[in-house]
Amino acid sequence: MITGGYRTIAAEFKDYIVLIDAPQNQAATSAIIAEAKRVIPNKPIRYVITTHAHFDHVGGLRAAAAEGATIIAHEMDKPLYEKWFSNPRTLFPPDALSKSGKRPSFEYMGDRKTLKDDTRTIEMYHIRGALHSEDMIVVYFPKEKIVFEADAFNAPAANAAPPANPGAQIAFQRRFASELDRLKIDYTHIVPAHQPAGGDRDVTKEDLFRNIGRTN
Ligand SMILES: [Zn+2]
Ligand SMILES: [Zn+2]
Repeated sequence: MITGGYRTIAAEFKDYIVLIDAPQNQAATSAIIAEAKRVIPNKPIRYVITTHAHFDHVGGLRAAAAEGATIIAHEMDKPLYEKWFSNPRTLFPPDALSKSGKRPSFEYMGDRKTLKDDTRTIEMYHIRGALHSEDMIVVYFPKEKIVFEADAFNAPAANAAPPANPGAQIAFQRRFASELDRLKIDYTHIVPAHQPAGGDRDVTKEDLFRNIGRTN
């Protein structure tokens, strides 16, 4: 996991690395790519999974595409990404993708998608009725029982009291929890793309349940 205001997971497979989200901008994502390659040397970044097409989570996609990473996104993002990546770039100086001369490649998913080899499995699921963004995908690590999510549960500080006036955000957190139930995702920990209030810490299923006033 690569932390900061935005957190990313670089998942190591036998022959390649998978990155989740390309946050903020090309500089931030380039720093994440460099760190991933330092920790996991001699493997290419083959995929970058996008949780949803909000700019703070995909602003660095061109840097990932310049690495040759295939972009995985929900199929409803296809028109948007085609437009983003086909608009002529007149940036000066040219960015890494322009310089590389590579054409970005995409894989679009519907309800679910799996990446798997002998060493690791990760599963991606579309979250239905996501109030924050219709295209929302969560990434599940079945062996580790971890769910990576963006903007579904921006965790409060450890042991913070549940919010006094549950608003729209709580409604979406409830929705998120019930979607994980519907998908039969067996998880103990959540990795929010945004750093929890009060700094990095492990965020658990119990944290989510406490926040939404659920007991089981
Ligand atoms: Zn968002
Ligand atoms: Zn966000």
